[in-house]
Amino acid sequence: MLDWSDTAAARQAPSFVPQSLAPTEATGLGTIDRRGGRVSVDEKRMINCRADVNQLLPLKYKWAWEKYLAGCNNHWMPTEVSMQADIALWKSRDGLTEDERRAIKRNLGFFAASESLVANNIVLAIYRHLTNPECRQYLLRQAFEEAVHTHTFQYIVESLGLDEGELFNMYREVPSITDKAAWALKHTQHLDDPDFKTGTPEADQAFLRDLVAFYVIFEGMWFYTGFAQILSLGRRNKMVGIAEQYQYILRDESIHLNFGIDVINQIKIENPHLWTRAFQDEVRAMVRDAAELEAAYGRDTMPRGFLGLNAALCESYMHFIANRRCAQLGLAPVFAETENPFPWMSEAMDLKKEKNFFETRVIEYQNGGALNWE
Ligand code: MN
Ligand code: FE
Repeated sequence: MLDWSDTAAARQAPSFVPQSLAPTEATGLGTIDRRGGRVSVDEKRMINCRADVNQLLPLKYKWAWEKYLAGCNNHWMPTEVSMQADIALWKSRDGLTEDERRAIKRNLGFFAASESLVANNIVLAIYRHLTNPECRQYLLRQAFEEAVHTHTFQYIVESLGLDEGELFNMYREVPSITDKAAWALKHTQHLDDPDFKTGTPEADQAFLRDLVAFYVIFEGMWFYTGFAQILSLGRRNKMVGIAEQYQYILRDESIHLNFGIDVINQIKIENPHLWTRAFQDEVRAMVRDAAELEAAYGRDTMPRGFLGLNAALCESYMHFIANRRCAQLGLAPVFAETENPFPWMSEAMDLKKEKNFFETRVIEYQNGGALNWE
């Protein structure tokens, strides 16, 4: 039986440390400041905040709270999507071409590990340094959504009977996937150092680089070509279960991306000295490099292409997306003006407007209790 009356931890609780001795800390787990005042809205800051990070209210960044609510309203689980049609097609002798199988497997392999990299970055790097409770509230929701996304790949592997070792090791074993993962990890390695602290221009820029690498590039660029590949198959009635799951993931990711953009832009407003000309050029170079890595991945995973999809189309989609991300960050475009080769992607993002996108049974997905099946 659990005994709550007098735990060892409580008996050994540290005695009160006067405010003057209490370290300024951003985690929210330090000594309680008994003499500190109540937090007012103007004291709240995205990074390097000295006000108590355990006081959600009063809200300062309403956009962060609204994204938390939107994420909760989009709740879904992968196991609620039927995989019967996908299983039949995957096991059929000639329902899919070898090129389609190769692209599907590499796509799944890229996402299977990437969802986990994104989750680890949120929990182990970003959370600690984003010193605002309403942003942290969103990060907690996002971390759960990344767990749901990783679960999706476990469910797909199990349903189709794929080789789990092959799929979950592609990020180490397929060079065009490893190149992308390694590029992003390079930008979070500073933050992985236990002694890393924000508070100097160099450290704060390192933190911004991590946000750009993971929110704008990983989730905001690479995931989008990955979604376009699977959703393009779904539009041709192939792997419709996976396509439906990707549609839900895309809806989640569009909020993750927009949260990341808002975070970066708010840090810029509060710390204009970080957003130097040189740093802006660096961010644009990151976006350009990332688009090139994606183009190489496209050529590797779709050497010949198939109906409605090939490496060249994916590359021009990447250019279109890269310019769009630059605009969202207030930066000049990095590529010549490109038309969107996949205009249907914007429809795929809005499940309510495009109820029968894949002609599946789900007509509107709004958290568990309010499921509406046709
Ligand atoms: Mn995700
Ligand atoms: Fe995400």
